[in-house]
Amino acid sequence: MLSHNLGYPRVGSHRELKKASEQFWARKIDREELQKTARKIRHQNWETQKNAGLDLIPSNDFSLYDHVLDTSLMAGAIPERYHQLIDGKSNRELDLYYAMARGVQRDGLDIKAMEMTKWFDTNYHYLVPEFTKNQKFSRYSDKIILEFEDALHKGILTKPVLVGPVTYLLLGKEKEAGFERIDLLDNLLPIYISILKELASRGAEWVQLDEPALVLDLSDKDKLALRSAYAQIREALPKLKVLVTSYFGALEDNLATATSLNIDALHIDLTRGVETLPQILADQDFVNSTKKLSLGVVDGRNIWKNDFKKSLGFIKNAVEVLGENRVMIAPSSSLLHSPHDLELEKNEAVLTPEIKNWMAFAKQKLQEVVTLKRLATINWNDDQAFIANQQAVENRRNSPLIHKSAAKARVQNVKESDFERQNAFPIRQAIQLEKLKLPLFPSTTIGSFPQTDDVRQLRANLKKGTLSIEDYETRIKKEIVNSLRWQEKLGIDVLVHGEFERNDMVEYFGERLSGFVFTQNGWVQSYGSRCVKPPVIFGDVERPEAMTVKWSAFAQANSDKLVKGMLTGPVTILQWSFVRDDQPRKDTVFQIGLAIRDEVVELEKAGIKVIQIDEPAIREGLPLRKSAWKNYLKWAVDAFRLSAAGVADQTQIHTHMCYSEFNDIIGSIAAMDADVITIETSRSQMELLDAFAHFNYPNEIGPGVYDIHSPRVPTVDEMIVLLEKALKVIPARNLWVNPDCGLKTRKWPETEAALQNMITAANILRESV
Ligand code: GLN
Ligand code: ZN
Repeated sequence: MLSHNLGYPRVGSHRELKKASEQFWARKIDREELQKTARKIRHQNWETQKNAGLDLIPSNDFSLYDHVLDTSLMAGAIPERYHQLIDGKSNRELDLYYAMARGVQRDGLDIKAMEMTKWFDTNYHYLVPEFTKNQKFSRYSDKIILEFEDALHKGILTKPVLVGPVTYLLLGKEKEAGFERIDLLDNLLPIYISILKELASRGAEWVQLDEPALVLDLSDKDKLALRSAYAQIREALPKLKVLVTSYFGALEDNLATATSLNIDALHIDLTRGVETLPQILADQDFVNSTKKLSLGVVDGRNIWKNDFKKSLGFIKNAVEVLGENRVMIAPSSSLLHSPHDLELEKNEAVLTPEIKNWMAFAKQKLQEVVTLKRLATINWNDDQAFIANQQAVENRRNSPLIHKSAAKARVQNVKESDFERQNAFPIRQAIQLEKLKLPLFPSTTIGSFPQTDDVRQLRANLKKGTLSIEDYETRIKKEIVNSLRWQEKLGIDVLVHGEFERNDMVEYFGERLSGFVFTQNGWVQSYGSRCVKPPVIFGDVERPEAMTVKWSAFAQANSDKLVKGMLTGPVTILQWSFVRDDQPRKDTVFQIGLAIRDEVVELEKAGIKVIQIDEPAIREGLPLRKSAWKNYLKWAVDAFRLSAAGVADQTQIHTHMCYSEFNDIIGSIAAMDADVITIETSRSQMELLDAFAHFNYPNEIGPGVYDIHSPRVPTVDEMIVLLEKALKVIPARNLWVNPDCGLKTRKWPETEAALQNMITAANILRESV
């Protein structure tokens, strides 16, 4: 029986990579310094995994920015606009890499970044490979070889990890008509084979090819591609042991494809697809083969301690059918989605020992995997580790910290009318037009303004106790007033208070709701250097007191313009938290929806006329399989409506979503019935709007006119072009002008320049109609 790991968090236990990357981009450190930090993290990760006692340790799971981008660079899938950055010198690879990741605007260059989108249904973002009809692939980056060698020098024979060729192609995008990206497989495979051959020649025994596409709805062609890919790999490399991983769901109708692959081991996710296990164990072809089955028993995406009894049950089932030698034990997915180390949580006031004892982070999960392997071959009932584990599981199940009867009762008593605004949108729109007196093409921003070091320092000092709450509030108020004056001067129509008091759009609310706990160091990578520290929803949720009213009311009192109230929606709070696994997500999200509803009503009472409830995570919450969408969308839309419907018609409810592809869910977006929705569109050149046009989306829309994920300042002209494109499909009276998303990750100079251009564009447009 082998224990192994699919991937380890890469930002470093203290976010060392984030800090080094940002310093490198700001030209404060050089590439050697950056690479030194990266190497140190890799070494520490290998060391940690080796010390845990794992049999197989991954390499190439590390990435400076994103592993899909790494794969594009490996295969030379470099879009044309970056070709001027290829100059054959390996020390330039990094410039090219970051240009693809982040865009580049310097030394006369002005190139946009690649598109970014969510990795399956997680909150991790990858850079979308771009493919053309005559796409050529050629080996470009040798990162995987270098990292394998690096580990080898440290005395660790790793299992290199790669995004599998079929998943890689399916995650990409066709940039021109007339071909299907899966048809590129035969062009791409020689690159994989060449890499694998080199790894094998350098001593690799196992490789891991991640094919999470195996849990998606696949076409027959995709399924054939999988068979063909692994048949070709096997033919070229008869001896290399190939592990193909599936994760994030059950195999369902892809089971036969998965079990027929000519490989040495197949990994399945038993936290999000338990039904796969009995199916595979009943599959005679698989059972009669010599293939190993890797059981993903430890949840790679949540922070709860594993229930050993349950996991050992799965392992036992598998061992009975396959024998010990053919069973592998692992986390369900890469631990990229877990925080690093629970032992770094030392502050008992933040995370009480009782709740902490219910949890396991990446480092602890390794231990769980290794312990499960040990327990699997002994009489576990008397084992100390098993007993302690079961005590923790029991304690969590019955803890009075978790169960609040009032919160449960409120959800039970929700009525149909609680989901309905007073009147339908056309009536509300007329009332709002009269009351709010907004011009044509009203301009706004999405909420946050740059979080400068100063602002962060204020919060840090408040936390440390070196700044009194009074002084803190005075300083934040000063920031708010400054930003209001600045927005007024710019000529923005609906202002925001800037979210200076918020660390993070979910954490801020979680800190003010009951049923949540926080970690001090539980960072998880979201994209590139961006990390989030998801709250942990451990119990029933209630709102003890107002969360944002004070700040919004202060801002509104300090401007004659409208200032938007700014809230995070229930689905996003759910989606971006570590959630309970002891009740359906629907119950949790309704509890949160009711808490947000109370806040919305109180904002209205405090004189706030425009309230935004951000739901950037609705789309990513979609189940990976279409068959499960309807059920999810119903409760997600209901949770939003529950949060929004408590106000009068004249109060304008906004929502905001980023990175969304709307085609499939436009009906549900419309059913949310927000008066205004602002969305991400600029990276896709307004392509996303087609969905809204087709559907005749009735409510108001602000399609983002520039990409805030890049420091690049858009020109007036390019925003006018986008707006004119939007006007072709959206009635003028419904069109808003705004950036793609919040501006907290930007610096002030580029923010000012970009918004100035945006307002100029809006003005020109107004004059032209
Ligand atoms: N209001 C939030 C902000 O501006 C929205 C961020 C988001 O959608 N991710 O930061
Ligand atoms: Zn956004």
